[in-house]
Amino acid sequence: MQVMHKNGIIFREKSDLFVDAGGIRNKSCLITHAHSDHAHATSSNTYYLTPQTSALIAAKEKGFSVKEIEFGKKFEVDGFSCRFLPSGHILGAGQVEILNGAHAVLTSDFKLQKSILFEGAQILPCEILVIETTFGVPHYSFPSRDVVYEDMMRWIHEQLSASNFVVLGGYSTGKAQELTKVVNEFLGESPLVHPKVFCQNRVYEKQGVKLGSYIELNHNLGDSNILIMPPHLIDDNLLYALSRQIGKNVEAAIATGWGKFSRYKTFPLSDHADFTSLATYVKESNPKLVLTTHGFEEEFASYVQKKLGIPARPLSRGAQSSIGDFAAP
Ligand SMILES: [Zn+2]
Ligand SMILES: [Zn+2]
Repeated sequence: MQVMHKNGIIFREKSDLFVDAGGIRNKSCLITHAHSDHAHATSSNTYYLTPQTSALIAAKEKGFSVKEIEFGKKFEVDGFSCRFLPSGHILGAGQVEILNGAHAVLTSDFKLQKSILFEGAQILPCEILVIETTFGVPHYSFPSRDVVYEDMMRWIHEQLSASNFVVLGGYSTGKAQELTKVVNEFLGESPLVHPKVFCQNRVYEKQGVKLGSYIELNHNLGDSNILIMPPHLIDDNLLYALSRQIGKNVEAAIATGWGKFSRYKTFPLSDHADFTSLATYVKESNPKLVLTTHGFEEEFASYVQKKLGIPARPLSRGAQSSIGDFAAP
């Protein structure tokens, strides 16, 4: 089996299996989860995805041809036997187990940490491991999620006690739902949520994930002292405008693993595996070949090769990677 990176990920045996691929026509393609850099659905292809991912991208409403596959259920695509297993990343997000000649696993975006909403990813043994390495250097080692929740709640509590208004930043699909739940569960507050967040919160709830109560933002800033919104919309102008409107001091915090790049307070609440989790996955999965993709792919491949003694390289380097390429003595 060969694995390639070309506008997505392609597994090649006698035929090609496309995963999270763009730029294809009249093909079958797997979608691992609903984030826009993975779900590139267009009308000419047939997509295999979990029912939850299908709901988050509103695939049926948009008229895409989809085959919804439950977690754990085997399915065949062009000679490949496949299975989605939860990746612990966001609702419906799957790792993919692929059998065709070799036994491969694609983690896609994943985390091992359990969150207030989901269990962490299960580590899958395989021969070829294609692993997402967003945080593939030791600098990115996150505290346990419970500790981060506690820190965050302490900070929010301080702000509310000082009569400040709190803006929390989290991606509208995934992080914002966790924030909604955390604010409900630990503070007993119903936050205002940006309309984009509201829409995805509803999908989570329809899929059986209870988030507590929340209010859609719609000229109703007085309804809560906490607002959850996508981080890219948060800037000084917005905070200033909010402050003028509410007549209160406004403090912002962003939930992200990329803390050092933010000008605001951050909490390392990431939906991606940190360096320690990446290393744990590789060791326990015990593959013959590791292909890294995304983020610190060079650095992590070099770590795997040198420190764990397993052949590894970034998937994007070179056109092809197969077990045979690494069969050096
Ligand atoms: Zn993602
Ligand atoms: Zn991603």
